[in-house]
Amino acid sequence: MSKLTMVVHGGAGPDSEFIKKNIETYKQGLREAVDTGYSVLEGGGSALDAVEAAVNYLEDNPLFNAGRGSALNEKAEVEMDASIMDGKTMKSGAVAIVKNVKNPVTLARAIMEKTKHIYIGDMGALEYAQKIGLRLMPEAYFITDHAYEQYIAATEEEENTIQQAGEYQVRRKTHGTVGAVAVDKDGNVAAATSTGGTENKVPGRIGDSSVIGIGSYANNKTCAISSTGDGEVLIRNVTCFHVSALMQYKGLNVKEACNYLIKEELKDAQGDMGIIAVDPAGNFAFEFNSERMHRGWRSSDGEQGVEIYRP
Ligand code: ASP
Repeated sequence: MSKLTMVVHGGAGPDSEFIKKNIETYKQGLREAVDTGYSVLEGGGSALDAVEAAVNYLEDNPLFNAGRGSALNEKAEVEMDASIMDGKTMKSGAVAIVKNVKNPVTLARAIMEKTKHIYIGDMGALEYAQKIGLRLMPEAYFITDHAYEQYIAATEEEENTIQQAGEYQVRRKTHGTVGAVAVDKDGNVAAATSTGGTENKVPGRIGDSSVIGIGSYANNKTCAISSTGDGEVLIRNVTCFHVSALMQYKGLNVKEACNYLIKEELKDAQGDMGIIAVDPAGNFAFEFNSERMHRGWRSSDGEQGVEIYRP
């Protein structure tokens, strides 16, 4: 039996008064997410079941920017992105710009398992969720006071928005995207990520979280990875796949690969980036260049913890 390992993140980015004020509640949420996923692994469930369960928990927790608590776009609407990948089969599923679906990562998994496609967006994704009977909620369910306050603040700062060379620079404050990676008793790895995206984003904008190889990636030959941070920067640098490729092509271990990507290769990248990863032997790594990354972990050799800032 392989070592069981469950790792989650709850977003990487700048610190804020809101985070400082709610630090214990954030830590409690991370602990519960880890325990939710870990109990699936302990009960003999697959890594895929475990990452879905942990992300579902975080999607339901209003403190995090995924599902309930999602960031609002320019029109004060919720548009969510999510992805999931199974390292054993290398199958994946993803949704983007989806509304009203209580647990977007479960929709991503259904797309992976029940359709001939990988990635479905917008109305098509919502219609498919309805068709297979996934739980839908009214818009008001997703919008928390904190997300609305962030929206108002971001709207007021609109004039400070930098428009450079036609590039829209999103000035993010709230980072609470969620992700999970796990290894199960058979040594299979899986990854999942879910987000409301960046506050005050242009309607229809899709970030990294739902893009396979960037938001989530899993391969039993190497590792499972989930990322968070400035979506545009993460996409530009194809983050998750690079970690796997460094392991597969160059023989780096999971810690070395994460460290090399964030601290060496992308050390001059302008933007926040955070990744969590686990290999099939249960070795795990976190790496981030931001002020903080909400994270939690637990493994069958007794290691467990939650952290928000640097050690
Ligand atoms: N990466 C997410 C996005 O750009 C946001 C985040 O991780 O906070 O949509």
